Amino acid sequence: MSRLLIIGCGGVASVAIHKCCQNSDIFTDICIASRTVSKCDALKAELEGRTKTNITTAQIDAEDVPALVALIQAYKPDAVLNLALPYQDLTIMDACLAAGVHYIDTANYEAENTDDPVWRAVYERRCKEEGFSAYFDYSWQWAYKKKFEKAGLTALLGSGFDPGVTGVFTAYALKHYFDEIHTIDILDCNGGDHGYPFATNFNPEINLREVSAPGSYWEDGKWIEVPAMSIKRQYDFPQVGLKDMYLLHHEEIESLAKNVPGVRRIRFFMTFGQSYLTHMKCLEDVGMLSTTPIEFQGQQIVPIQFLKALLPDPATLGPRTVGKTNIGCIFTGVKDGKKESIYIYNVCDHQACFREVGSQAISYTTGVPAMIGAMLVVDGRWRKPGVFNVEEFDPDPFMNALSRWGLPWVVEENPIMVD
Ligand code: NDP
Repeated sequence: MSRLLIIGCGGVASVAIHKCCQNSDIFTDICIASRTVSKCDALKAELEGRTKTNITTAQIDAEDVPALVALIQAYKPDAVLNLALPYQDLTIMDACLAAGVHYIDTANYEAENTDDPVWRAVYERRCKEEGFSAYFDYSWQWAYKKKFEKAGLTALLGSGFDPGVTGVFTAYALKHYFDEIHTIDILDCNGGDHGYPFATNFNPEINLREVSAPGSYWEDGKWIEVPAMSIKRQYDFPQVGLKDMYLLHHEEIESLAKNVPGVRRIRFFMTFGQSYLTHMKCLEDVGMLSTTPIEFQGQQIVPIQFLKALLPDPATLGPRTVGKTNIGCIFTGVKDGKKESIYIYNVCDHQACFREVGSQAISYTTGVPAMIGAMLVVDGRWRKPGVFNVEEFDPDPFMNALSRWGLPWVVEENPIMVD
């Protein structure tokens, strides 16, 4: 019996909301609150009559802390699940603290305006101190640790697939297969085809900012940064086949480097087709990925936001996307003095997701773990005061829930390694 306030009503939120409604014993009441309330109302109309969960909706600007606090105080949820954009993480955390509720999200904080001089000064110091230059990092949200501890509240960060399930896989590997993990390769393969020459599977602005940034990995206690897309490998993914994949900077590398004792190297690879890469390079070269506003016909526009308006809405890709995703982690390390290696992965079929919840697999593989993270926080199994990444909790209830709620996983021993 719990009440959940969900902020955002895009591709990921839609799946998480469907899943909360399937899990109505836990989520007896949900409120869907987003900037465009008509989307929340449409989803409520679609789900009502098919679920025992009571659904209400609200309009909210998640950057308006007093309005958020008022909404939380009026609705009285047990927790807030943030499925808006990373830009709103800090304001939603502030509101949760002010109103005394737990917080869950799927992506770490990123500044919307990267030209803001105050933000830039902190960012440039971090680039020098840490050695990676992505715009997003955990320092902003980890800085809330003491405040959440003092308030006796839990903030669960990054409860999507990657970050999210990849951290849970790591905790599970450490608990059941290794005394010490030495290397982690996170492999994110989307073997799906939506038929467009160019589209992104989740919010285009966030997605393009992530993949056009320099790549980096963690080795021997430090970050190594390389030019974007400069490290390429091939891997033969179970149930998907042979794909090209590229090394990216990714946020869970930062938390796993901190939370996995003795880890020597962590890398993240994502598959991309040639058409995607050619389009992205061209858009980048002409300035369409820029976040700096320009003057156009008497109006200020942000190029990447204009591009977002032109691209297909990821939430509409569901009916067109065929094929499968395979996302998982290859671990090496030692157990009882012996070298071991395992691969834990999930395979998800785009069309099966669409038949179940009307979304493609990228939204599905993020929305399901978001619901599971919220469930474990509200039912108390993953609750402790402070700010935590998923790998800091017992992985077993999460792993069991993944199988139950649509993301079954496989453990393969002695897998083929990435060189
Ligand atoms: P969408 O763009 O589809 O949805 C974002 C939603 O947030 C929209 O409903 C939007 O409203 C709403 N929103 C944006 N700004 C505000 C605001 N100021 N106040 C209230 N609501 C707002 O994004 P996705 O669903 O694709 O992604 C959601 C989150 O999931 C992102 O943070 C993304 O980074 C994360 N993600 C995490 C993954 C993981 O594996 N961990 C993988 C994929 C995504 P409107 O309808 O008005 O635009």
